[in-house]
Amino acid sequence: MALPEGRHFVRGDDGYEDARRSTVWNQRVPDRYPAVIVQALDDDDIVAALAYAKANDLQVGIRSGGHSWAANHLRDGGLLLDMHGFDQARIDKDKMVAVAGPGKGGSILAAELDAEGLFFPAGHCKGVCIGGYLLQGGYGWNSRVLGPACESVIGLDVITADGEKRYIDADNHPDLYYAARGAGPGFFAVVTAFHLKLYAKPAICGMSFYAYPFECADEVFTWAREISADVDRRVELQIVATRSVPDVGIDGPAIVLASPVFADDEKEAEKALALLGTCPAIDKALAKVPYAPTDLPTWYTAVMGNYLEDHRYSADNMWTSASAADLMPGIHRILQTLPPHPAHFLWLNWGPSPARADMAYSVEAEIYLALYGGWMDEGDDEKYADWPRANMAEMAHLATGIQLADENLGQRPAKFATDEAMARLDKARAAYDPDGRFYPWMGRV
Ligand SMILES: Cc1cc2nc3c(=O)[nH]c(=O)nc-3n(C[C@H](O)[C@H](O)[C@H](O)COP(=O)(O)OP(=O)(O)OC[C@H]3O[C@@H](n4cnc5c(N)ncnc54)[C@H](O)[C@@H]3O)c2cc1C
Repeated sequence: MALPEGRHFVRGDDGYEDARRSTVWNQRVPDRYPAVIVQALDDDDIVAALAYAKANDLQVGIRSGGHSWAANHLRDGGLLLDMHGFDQARIDKDKMVAVAGPGKGGSILAAELDAEGLFFPAGHCKGVCIGGYLLQGGYGWNSRVLGPACESVIGLDVITADGEKRYIDADNHPDLYYAARGAGPGFFAVVTAFHLKLYAKPAICGMSFYAYPFECADEVFTWAREISADVDRRVELQIVATRSVPDVGIDGPAIVLASPVFADDEKEAEKALALLGTCPAIDKALAKVPYAPTDLPTWYTAVMGNYLEDHRYSADNMWTSASAADLMPGIHRILQTLPPHPAHFLWLNWGPSPARADMAYSVEAEIYLALYGGWMDEGDDEKYADWPRANMAEMAHLATGIQLADENLGQRPAKFATDEAMARLDKARAAYDPDGRFYPWMGRV
């Protein structure tokens, strides 16, 4: 079977560099060059690409939306399978199931579901595709209630290294299904579709918004850690520290608490958010909105203010259940060294988590901390690129592990699954990808 005519590029071909760069959302495209890039549009393209890779002894990297901060799919010398064209979605409202391709944008799927009165915990940003998002876990809208989105993946259509098309779920190839829910950028088969459990659209999407000056950091983060377990699970408490919040007219440093809530009625929503008005620094707040009704399109626009398309990015992260007293020295260092907007520090209130499904996704904690460096000039790479890694490395003794969503494994290997999960992943990889056709994670401990 030949590679698809006009949709494959050998290094050196006209169009190769455009095809390579277009696979990376981050403007900081790494200097890593696959030997060949295949833009797949159907299963036959994938089977042909896998056969070609085997015949030429090439390892395979896969891209869906290309939002991996580290551009995990770009490796030197292998075959890059670009799945962005797999962007179909079929919604079955009676069965409350959707079957969607990995190249489907999460925000696009969310809008299509919304129109039908349905809901799925899609990610918070435009452009992120469900391929990489669901394989790594998936922290989306109402995820504290619905769980990481991979918990709502009830089956997958995949093509394994031997070119076989398989449907996998809890009964069919359970080891591969286990891996598909959490292995993220180390998954060892090609996903062509996800079968998703859908939910009824919550009646109300609301929010609260508070902003504090950096001088209040001790009060805000100490309080946030104290109340973390008591925050209503329908409320997603996100604290973002940034040097400016242009969209709401704050042009100085601010610690922003912008919190979505999903509820049955406005009264419930307001009640669920009430705790967030109890910060001891409330009198020093730069902005204070205890409750306002909103909707997902408005949220998506607001969130994208921190992820500007034309910037160069680096990211790193950690899960932690440490006390505020232990975390504050690291947080002060982060605030002191924080580069200009859109670089930011995220504190996500996550735990305490309920028992999870049996899946590779297996490391989480009370609080999620992530750093996103964002800048425009290549000349500033040296100044900013290492900021997330360096600060997370300083705080690593307080971490239980990392999320694969914002992984930086190539620069800082860290634990992203339990030892038991890693052993099961290794066993499944040996069974389904015995020749190591698919690239493993860029670094692991
Ligand atoms: C601006 C921005 C906002 C983000 N917001 C969120 C958020 O709100 N919540 C959250 O959880 N994460 C978020 N992330 C992280 C994001 O979910 C991950 O980077 C995810 O991997 C992106 O999916 P993708 O398909 O766009 O990326 P890709 O870079 O295409 O995929 C990442 C990796 O997944 C694997 N993969 C992708 N597709 C397939 C496939 N079809 N078959 C097999 N393996 C595959 C490959 O190893 C690939 O390298 C965000 C990232 C960015 C850049």
